[in-house]
Amino acid sequence: MFEKNNIAVANACKLIEKYCIKLPNQYSLEELLNAEGLVYIEESLDGLAGNIVFTAENGIVTVNSNIESETQKIFTAAHELGHFENEAHTRPLPKGEEKALIQPNFPLNAKGGYSKARGIFECGFEDVLGVKRTSRTETAANDFAAELLMHKPWFEEFTKSKKLSLTLLSECAEHFTVSLSAAAFRYAEIGNAPCAIIMSTDGVVKWSSINKSFPYQFLRNGLKVHNMSYAFDLHKAMHNYKLNLCSFDQMKRNFAEVPKEEDIPAFAWFNEDYSLNGNQNIRIMEANIAMHNYNSVITVLWEV
Ligand SMILES: [Zn+2]
Repeated sequence: MFEKNNIAVANACKLIEKYCIKLPNQYSLEELLNAEGLVYIEESLDGLAGNIVFTAENGIVTVNSNIESETQKIFTAAHELGHFENEAHTRPLPKGEEKALIQPNFPLNAKGGYSKARGIFECGFEDVLGVKRTSRTETAANDFAAELLMHKPWFEEFTKSKKLSLTLLSECAEHFTVSLSAAAFRYAEIGNAPCAIIMSTDGVVKWSSINKSFPYQFLRNGLKVHNMSYAFDLHKAMHNYKLNLCSFDQMKRNFAEVPKEEDIPAFAWFNEDYSLNGNQNIRIMEANIAMHNYNSVITVLWEV
């Protein structure tokens, strides 16, 4: 878990200024990549959301053509652009990355030979989707993408004086052409209602991001998801499917039975928070987004 990368955010803001972008989706990601000297291609990639190979001036972004969701393709392209903007001008040429020289489509340099790659990033789905937050450069690329697609002033304008709810997060996702999870992460960072966002995988908390104004702050990575939370029910359905105890359709039916947004005891998540002092009567709102491909659930919590 890393703090937000301010340089990545500044790099996205620079680009928004450079091209005088006033609205979300004013330019397609492909147009932006091209303007920055990057070729955009889609092809089938084994186990990766996307990759980029670049010199200081140009490069190739490949997004996995098997990705079904258009929003995920856009976010992946923005993430790869983030690697370029964050790294291309500062990164020394590392040893062992000469394999870029044999990339068949890699841009030719002025002398007609293959340019030397300054960087290669191969980005897994869990990195791009934020399921994992274990790599500083991957998290920085996501910070860049979030700022580029949901620029802070636009996001604040869109969400101001609206009450936090799953409906609002869905509206954000649609307005900014991002996934619901990307909209939820963004809201947790800069939205006007204090909230907490939690990523749990296989029934265990992997990371959380809690707004400083949220009343409960202590949530340990490695904590087991409590059975008082609805996230627990989603994990249970995924677990049963994983163990072949139920069909995919049955898992989906089980998902459908879990309330999308409901108040629960704060204790369900913050039973180790000293300030709650074991009190099970205080309630908070919980909304969950299941990511069954990753056995993960994104939970958003806010005050009732
Ligand atoms: Zn990446």
